[in-house]
Amino acid sequence: MTTDATSVTDTPEQAEFRAAARAFLEAHAKPRQQVSPWAVTVHRSQDAARAAFERGRAWQKTLFENGFAGLTYPVELGGRGGSAWHERIYNEEARSFDTSSGFVSATIAMLGPTLMKHATPEQQALYVPKLLSAEYAFCQLFSEPGAGSDLAGLACRAVRDGDEFVVTGQKVWNSAAQFCNWGMILVRTNPDVPKHRGITFLLVDMSTPGIEARPLVQPTGGSEFNEVFLEEVRIPVANVIGEIDGGWAPARTVLSNESAFIGGGSVAVGGRYPRLLELAEMHGKRDDPTVRQGLADFYMRERIVAVMGERIMAAVRQRQMPPVDPSALKLFTTESRVRSGNLAVAIRGADGLVGDDEIAIWTQMELLGRFSISIGGGTNEVQKNNLAERALGLPREPRTDHEIAWKDVPRS
Ligand SMILES: Cc1cc2nc3c(=O)[nH]c(=O)nc-3n(C[C@H](O)[C@H](O)[C@H](O)COP(=O)(O)OP(=O)(O)OC[C@H]3O[C@@H](n4cnc5c(N)ncnc54)[C@H](O)[C@@H]3O)c2cc1C
Repeated sequence: MTTDATSVTDTPEQAEFRAAARAFLEAHAKPRQQVSPWAVTVHRSQDAARAAFERGRAWQKTLFENGFAGLTYPVELGGRGGSAWHERIYNEEARSFDTSSGFVSATIAMLGPTLMKHATPEQQALYVPKLLSAEYAFCQLFSEPGAGSDLAGLACRAVRDGDEFVVTGQKVWNSAAQFCNWGMILVRTNPDVPKHRGITFLLVDMSTPGIEARPLVQPTGGSEFNEVFLEEVRIPVANVIGEIDGGWAPARTVLSNESAFIGGGSVAVGGRYPRLLELAEMHGKRDDPTVRQGLADFYMRERIVAVMGERIMAAVRQRQMPPVDPSALKLFTTESRVRSGNLAVAIRGADGLVGDDEIAIWTQMELLGRFSISIGGGTNEVQKNNLAERALGLPREPRTDHEIAWKDVPRS
């Protein structure tokens, strides 16, 4: 039985679920205190990265087999058929344990709501249970060398041949594509219409002949993401999610849930403030006025992000419109992360960047990690554009390619 204050207000049904969640976690997971708070997940070898990926996948399978995956998904699709409070209570209990589904939790958060909204009932029956159990681990094959922020300008070509599309092109920055056995891919099916209207969203088995994923090395030493080359890859038309040429709609659902997930992630890790405070104490800088100001600023931001994240994730789980634009959450999270990196380095000084002890590595990753979070899932500038247009109702950016066929848009 938990002694957490959160249990005080539980209804009998909630208390029963909390006890079940606690019992499951005690039986299957390690308590969190056994894990150093300074541990960071950078894998400098492909073997280590693959092992971490598979550990996350195995944990997701354990969740699924014990009825704790997809808590708000329908029972007939492998979920628990629960409500947002099931997720909240489970997360409260899981905080005391070292549990993570790793990369697959990101694709479940992005692809799950997309399948529920845009896939046919038959496709949902086929893919949702495999997604929730991590039998299918999906990578995101969206970005291309010439299409990142301007994703709708993508060029990966798909030509229909009977019941299949034949896909040729290149994708890039595809996280974990070297480990995933399935992918969600955006392809150009109609070059004769404006860019947003000729895109199709497909699911693809990564073992299909003609697909090659090449890992890219990052400044952290890890190589979690890839270039993916596709040469005459045959994908069944039955794998289209949504409409042929109407792939922009499911793509937007993925991107919106990605922003919410990245922003909401800071809630899940339990916050950076305690580590920054400990760092300040270790270095005798707790009373330094500049450090104190930085700590107060960071604490305040972390709390705001947590509250925004909880509200958005609760809405996403209930498949309702988020009460806060996910772009606001992602932007706020990213900017907090920049401040955390700067503060960590200010406290630790230059040696914080060159040491190889656990805390030095944490500091290095705090500094370097801010770049990936401020680019992945849409850059800060793009999030600001989204907010200007969607949340503030400001005029759209001038677009010269809006009404012309994609094939006639000049490209470098
Ligand atoms: C850690 C990480 C993981 C990723 N994982 C994946 C993945 O799994 N799958 C996938 O498909 N992609 C992935 N990406 C790619 C990511 O979505 C793109 O990097 C991102 O959309 C930016 O595109 P780009 O790199 O082509 O930069 P560009 O679009 O070329 O942007 C370059 C610069 O110009 C600015 N800019 C561009 N357009 C505008 C504008 N209209 N207004 C103002 N400024 C603008 C940008 O903000 C940026 O500073 C990942 C990226 C990172 C960093």
